[in-house]
Amino acid sequence: MGLVEMSSIGDNLLRVLERMNQAAARAGRDPGEIKLVAVSKTIETARIRQAIEAGVTILGENYVQEARQKIEEIGHGIQWHMVGHLQSNKAKYAVTLFDYIHSVDGIPLAREIDRRAAQKGKMVRVLLEVNLSGETSKFGMGPKAAMELIHHVSALKHICIEGLMTMPPYFDEPEKARPYFIRLRELRDRIQKEGIEGVRMDELSMGMSGDFEAAIEEGATMIRVGTAIFGERGY
Ligand SMILES: *Cc1c(COP(=O)(O)O)cnc(C)c1O
Repeated sequence: MGLVEMSSIGDNLLRVLERMNQAAARAGRDPGEIKLVAVSKTIETARIRQAIEAGVTILGENYVQEARQKIEEIGHGIQWHMVGHLQSNKAKYAVTLFDYIHSVDGIPLAREIDRRAAQKGKMVRVLLEVNLSGETSKFGMGPKAAMELIHHVSALKHICIEGLMTMPPYFDEPEKARPYFIRLRELRDRIQKEGIEGVRMDELSMGMSGDFEAAIEEGATMIRVGTAIFGERGY
């Protein structure tokens, strides 16, 4: 596809990258250390292909079944990240489909991922999903449970805990999400200080279409952006 035929997805992507660069500059950060996960749930493969042609290298999906069909069509030339809630009974599919799981939210799930990864001779990279608001409608563990999980599963050989993920409550103003981003970073720093073997804690997955700039200013290393790239989702 030539530059003159740039799709609206391409335009959207350029705008997101521009906003990422500006937010990184404001925070004195290197934009190269921030990964863009293009969240493609409900988006059909033709539009996902447009995003890949425009330069997307990481796709995020929420449902194992939906992701499996897309991955069969599109393949593993790009990275696939699981960003949605994962049930333990789907872990065996998730470890083969995904390069990264953002949503580990309990010891049983962590153990099951490790067991299934061991069967496949794989090492699976994961983040722990932390619920900082206590909203019961949200998945994720409280900060104390996250700390406990890390102590329990740090010795497992087929799962590598690389960081934390959070989803703040929905706000119409991005500034209201900022305190949650700060708290996730502080929790990450506390865990890092414990110096637990096998636990890296480099990654912070936080920020979506409405608030990724604040997240980048507070230290996000992965942002998960759907609407700002693909447009509104029609369910
Ligand atoms: C849908 C989704 C996103 C993307 O949300 P947008 O507001 O469309 O950018 C990010 N993270 C998770 C976990 C999601 O489910």
